[in-house]
Amino acid sequence: MKTLRFDILTIFPAMFDSPFGEGLFSRARENGLLDLRAHDLRDYTLNKHRKVDDCPFGGGAGMVMNVEPIVRAIEAVKKDRPRARTILMSASGKPFDQKKAWELSREDEILLVCGRYEGVDERVGLHFVDEEISIGDFVLSGGEIPAMVLIDAVSRLVPGVVGDEACIRDESFTADLLEYPQYTRPQEFRGQTVPEILISGDHQKIRDWQRQAAREKTARIRPDLLKNAKTSEQDRTAPGKKP
Ligand code: SAH
Repeated sequence: MKTLRFDILTIFPAMFDSPFGEGLFSRARENGLLDLRAHDLRDYTLNKHRKVDDCPFGGGAGMVMNVEPIVRAIEAVKKDRPRARTILMSASGKPFDQKKAWELSREDEILLVCGRYEGVDERVGLHFVDEEISIGDFVLSGGEIPAMVLIDAVSRLVPGVVGDEACIRDESFTADLLEYPQYTRPQEFRGQTVPEILISGDHQKIRDWQRQAAREKTARIRPDLLKNAKTSEQDRTAPGKKP
């Protein structure tokens, strides 16, 4: 059994208490599959006001986070965890996706740096972290929620965190397709019924339907994904379907 440990550098460490204090994450922490520590960046300042930001060189609006407290905090964490994969949450980082989540789920230690204000001194990203990751093409007010998004997506891929591994195997993006449509009781709701095939009991037909429905749904909502989608043997040989 492995433990994935996250260290987080932030000026708001308390933000991390609630999202990971309930449900499957709280259980995973109790069972030793996950370990999560948020560190206050202000503890690594050298000025008496514990100030972590300053005006940008060259002028411009807003404040920029200083390089020094961030680097001192990274070094403090790395003293105990020299191999921690160090990631700066950044709107201008590489886009996060399910493939990246799988890659990170194989690490033992991940250190996340959360910016605030107008962002962090560029030298942090250039020289003191392994990579910069963005959770999407939009700007949030801080790196904490992006870090939570990453922790959530990565943690549930750690073996044992989600009880039934099959749940993870069939999900959206796993084969560059969206997940097939799912239904549960009641069979009819306000005149809207569940596809007949799903209550036929014919497992082979159901699987074929799900594969086809996933492709149709992906073509409709995310045609961009289909360019990469792996074509299974059934898809290629099925009559009337393009490869
Ligand atoms: N001025 C910056 C945005 C700063 S937002 C720019 O134009 O790129 C403040 C902090 O929020 C950033 O330092 C980063 O840590 C976090 N952040 C904002 N949007 C993000 C995103 N899409 N992905 C990851 N982190 C983000």
